[in-house]
Amino acid sequence: MFHAPIVGGEGHGPSPIRLRALSLGAGVQSTTMALMAAHGEIGPMPDCAVFADTGWEPKAVYDHLAWLMSANVLPFPVHIVSAGNIRDQLIAAGDGQRWASIPAFTRTVTPAGAEMPILDEDDGEIVAIGTRRTAKETVSVGMIRRQCTTEFKIVPIRRKVRELVGLTRKRSPDHPLVEQWIGISTDEIIRAKPSFEAWQVKRFPLIEMRMSRADCLAWLKRHDYPLPPKSACIGCPFHDNARWRHMRDNDRDAWVDAVDVDRTIRTGIRGIRGEVFLHRSAVPLDEADLSTPADHGQLDLWANECEGMCGV
Ligand code: SF4
Repeated sequence: MFHAPIVGGEGHGPSPIRLRALSLGAGVQSTTMALMAAHGEIGPMPDCAVFADTGWEPKAVYDHLAWLMSANVLPFPVHIVSAGNIRDQLIAAGDGQRWASIPAFTRTVTPAGAEMPILDEDDGEIVAIGTRRTAKETVSVGMIRRQCTTEFKIVPIRRKVRELVGLTRKRSPDHPLVEQWIGISTDEIIRAKPSFEAWQVKRFPLIEMRMSRADCLAWLKRHDYPLPPKSACIGCPFHDNARWRHMRDNDRDAWVDAVDVDRTIRTGIRGIRGEVFLHRSAVPLDEADLSTPADHGQLDLWANECEGMCGV
């Protein structure tokens, strides 16, 4: 068995780790990690897995999770935690209520003749020194800052892990009690970051095993396991065209739902100027051109966003 150093390491002597918790997104990487642990190919055996449910995963993910939790698949329990339903929150956001923002796209149109500030620098500060009028209409597309990962994934998992290790409403120790396993593979290594909190260390077993996503799929096939669906919220704006197309052509209910939510959030979101869209081209989802084979330059790194806990 290959052992690599733990990020944020335990040092020498007896391990102070009291809990090993595997972050389960129920996609390819975390499923492989969990099953490899079950086979004894990664160790020591985790005490549990934790799945953070946003309430808006495709049915295939919930079916796959149910299989993972069924008898004789994993030798450790899977805890399901939730901070509410992200879809409900999005609908409420379209009504001007508070939301944990998703990385949706905005389209802002500035008409010709609009008054714009002329900016300059004064003593290191940017200041307006006058105004000008725009010569022609301009359209700008932006992305809303993402809070959903923290609110719907990181916080509920953290809360559960602290509860399991007896740290609820207690001061955190200055040494790690918890080892958190994250399913990031070598092709996403840039997303593997150490813990910023002294009471826990993160481990990236797939990186320790030098496994890519393709290696994970090969391992699952070799062991005759069902191939997991891609896990992420149905309407996650990080989806690339291939993912949207697959949903449109294979999961009609999810597609209709995403189109519906996309329409609902168009206007009325507090603090957002312009219109809001789920598709990165900033047009209504059911009108977006999904035909391009790959989204060149469009953040392929995010492909399995929530699987590795949305890039913690
Ligand atoms: S899958 Fe997308 S929308 Fe859902 S929590 Fe992760 S980043 Fe946010």
